[in-house]
Amino acid sequence: MSSIPSIELPAELVPGDGRFGSGPSKVRTESLLELGVTGASFLGTSHRQPTVKAVVGAIRHGMEDLFSLPDNYEVVLGVGGATAFWASAAYGLIEKKSQHLDFGVFSGKFAKVVAGAPHLEEPEVIKAEIGSHPLPVPNPEVDLYALTHNETTTGVMMPIVRPEASGVVAVDATSAAGGMAVDPDQYDVYYFSPQKVFGAEGGLWIAFVSPAGVDRIEKLGASDRWTPGFLSLKLALDNSRKDQTTNTPALATLFLVKRQVEYMLEMGGLDWAVGRCDRSSEIVYSWAESAEYAYPFVSDPEKRSTNVATVNFVDEIDAGTVAAILRANGILDTGGYRALGQNQLRIAMFPNVEPSDLERLTKAIDYIVERM
Ligand SMILES: *Cc1c(COP(=O)(O)O)cnc(C)c1O
Repeated sequence: MSSIPSIELPAELVPGDGRFGSGPSKVRTESLLELGVTGASFLGTSHRQPTVKAVVGAIRHGMEDLFSLPDNYEVVLGVGGATAFWASAAYGLIEKKSQHLDFGVFSGKFAKVVAGAPHLEEPEVIKAEIGSHPLPVPNPEVDLYALTHNETTTGVMMPIVRPEASGVVAVDATSAAGGMAVDPDQYDVYYFSPQKVFGAEGGLWIAFVSPAGVDRIEKLGASDRWTPGFLSLKLALDNSRKDQTTNTPALATLFLVKRQVEYMLEMGGLDWAVGRCDRSSEIVYSWAESAEYAYPFVSDPEKRSTNVATVNFVDEIDAGTVAAILRANGILDTGGYRALGQNQLRIAMFPNVEPSDLERLTKAIDYIVERM
């Protein structure tokens, strides 16, 4: 790290907010200030009492509005984030055998959890090369299809289309939900952690569940399969219906999610958020395509994520050095996902990130590369 050249960006190239990380991502300062103003009335009070339950209720109803959920879909919350949800799904959502589309670190992790579960059959794992995505393949033995709307580690998005088969469709939407259009008819469970698009804190999962998803949860919840209570989807469902979680949630996270949902609805809802991500991704990818030293990592424009951009550099320019120089200038978390081993930057374009800040970021990178 001692060989990082010191390059100071001129003020006009420094974005107004330097947070471009893909999770935890930029939190709205307005929401933080509002949380502070709650003083003695919210943080430090019981999550089983009306004040906190009203916040959970507002999240559940706000999500119904934001995602235009059909009346018979339910919003369920639990503690532990998407990673905990995978474990819960292994107990309470997969009956015998699941099919996983593996095209990056996160989609691969869910498949690994299931592969290790002694009560389940070996999952069917369909892989694609890094930078692309596979499609589900109907299989009569499969009772759950595990899709990932946006592979945060590679910057690949895929359309959410229900395979022509019976079986529950469960979508990891952690870095997609709230920034990409989705039709509720195409999934049974759409789950995510709120520290990505929703600009809140980690440690929580939120899932939209269709009637078929609820049936599966009820069925496995009533079966004699042993399930740790913390991971029980049946308990999560029962508690969510009462605007609670099974165990104690982080109240600050709940507050930030509630305010983010309200903000997105005020701004024009999901259409507004998706439009903003589209505009931002246009800025970043058109810059990457025209820069002589950089190019979008995902070659197929249709698969390029509108929420998380991965941009590769030619061999002569070390992306890690660029990210370090950016960091020295207060521009944070632009480094690529380490395990991928690419010479690339990864840039979040979530709705909270100002398109004008992304514009400045691209100019800042040009400025740095010219001087390296
Ligand atoms: C971040 C992320 C996860 C993991 O979320 P945690 O809250 O850390 O459990 C899972 N899937 C995707 C697609 C993600 O982006």
